[in-house]
Amino acid sequence: MPGTKYIFVTGGVTSSLGKGIISASLATLLQARGFRVTIQKLDPYINIDPGTLNPYEHGECYVTDDGAETDLDLGHYERFLGVPTSQDNNVTTGRIYQTVINKEREGEYLGKTVQVIPHITDEIKRRIKILGETGKYDIVITEIGGTVGDIESLPYIEAVRQFNWEIGSSNHLVIHLTLLPYLATSGELKTKPTQHSVKTLLESGLQPDILVCRADRKIPREQRKKIALFCNVHTNAVIESLDAETIYDVPLLMLKEKLDSVVISKLKLSSKTEPDLTNWKHFLGILKNPTAEVKIGLVGKYVELKDAYKSIAEALIHAGVENECKVDVTWIHSEDLDESTVAQKLKGLKGILVAPGFGDRGIEGKISAVKYARENNIPFLGICLGMQCAVVEFGRNVLGLKDANSREMSPKTKHPVIDIMEDQKKVTKKGGTMRLGAYNCKLVKGTKGFSVYGTSNIAERHRHRFEFNNKYLKDYENAGMIASGINPDSNLVEIVELVDHPWFIGVQFHPEYKSTVAQPHPLFAKFIGATLKA
Ligand code: GLN
Repeated sequence: MPGTKYIFVTGGVTSSLGKGIISASLATLLQARGFRVTIQKLDPYINIDPGTLNPYEHGECYVTDDGAETDLDLGHYERFLGVPTSQDNNVTTGRIYQTVINKEREGEYLGKTVQVIPHITDEIKRRIKILGETGKYDIVITEIGGTVGDIESLPYIEAVRQFNWEIGSSNHLVIHLTLLPYLATSGELKTKPTQHSVKTLLESGLQPDILVCRADRKIPREQRKKIALFCNVHTNAVIESLDAETIYDVPLLMLKEKLDSVVISKLKLSSKTEPDLTNWKHFLGILKNPTAEVKIGLVGKYVELKDAYKSIAEALIHAGVENECKVDVTWIHSEDLDESTVAQKLKGLKGILVAPGFGDRGIEGKISAVKYARENNIPFLGICLGMQCAVVEFGRNVLGLKDANSREMSPKTKHPVIDIMEDQKKVTKKGGTMRLGAYNCKLVKGTKGFSVYGTSNIAERHRHRFEFNNKYLKDYENAGMIASGINPDSNLVEIVELVDHPWFIGVQFHPEYKSTVAQPHPLFAKFIGATLKA
């Protein structure tokens, strides 16, 4: 697409250096200069998408408006930029191969041998170009998952090499993120792993333009010069990336290092203005100087791996800023909870959030957390499975339906108060077949749900197969659990709340996916607001 500039971000030396945060931070700076920016992630694994991956393997599965199940880095992109991503923002090797193999079966290659080069690399290039071709973006940042040198990454690096050659030198740029480890015995940051990593990139025909070097202490000028000399980059293109107190510091740290200025001059973009980060700085100012603190409990079964609840954790940070308080999250393993331990384990918490999930492990612990919150008037937010647990708990303990359950946990239950959705009954394949993406919801005036949003019509993102069983709705409403949000097209219950409770809301959707720095999500903000009053 003429006019669109492409930035590629690769990683070297080790994984988990934070390519996603660097990409999102650079995008934030460019956006704050007035450019229209989006970020795309290319993942080198063979799964079609992370929807079928266990959260222990891969962390949270992030869902877009158009129903893509994606890498959690897309969550960072949206939280930093406030711009929705889509199916085109996350591509995996599995999807690339699936497309090529389907074409082969259609006979589109006309008898040719189908190979990594050019067929797989052509498909990668096509996916890279898609976002630029929409005409919606001045700059597309493409993050390449994995670490340079991995076998799986090779076709991506080769595709980028070809792509860059095709689009001309001022239209693209490669940023390589590396690590400078500190060796206590020699008392210095070591540059050799970075040199080797750049050599590996060069072997594949890619010369990085900018090196972003992670380090736990300042990189002396001499070391920067050395890296520049050995890796063919300018000294001002050796960017220091120190460990930050919060990910939301990183855009400002990158600004200090002039990452955006180096990018702008290399891409020959015209931008006279300095980035306008007024709102961002305002957010950070409150984040770092809270006037109150509140302790809330997050009950889930993947709590050992915080990344499994990434968007919820970030939405709580945003909600804290909105309330000028620090949200101190206690992570509670649902398998550690039962009727006998719940009071002691949840003691002192001002709010309880029951997390999404699948399968019956830890489910009874979640239900006892709901009961505790309901009976003790503790503000409660149940998300997806958390909402379903609230419905089951109310059925059992208020309506007296002793074996009330979700059909997911107990297929033969007499009282399936949560049942499989009609259009899910015939679904047998697991990948990409849930109710996914944004659906409309109409809020009932006069309810807490309505007052949270302050409007009648909302759209929120979903990822589930089960639903509130409307056969029981009348009984629930008569007993004090009402449906305050309904899908206007399918009549599915989207929000339940308790009438006689200070703040008890369960949502079938995932509000956490839509909380951003610029717009903290109202459900999280009001939940934290309620905990401050509790
Ligand atoms: N397992 C439940 C369902 O499929 C809830 C899913 C979730 O929490 N995302 O309906």
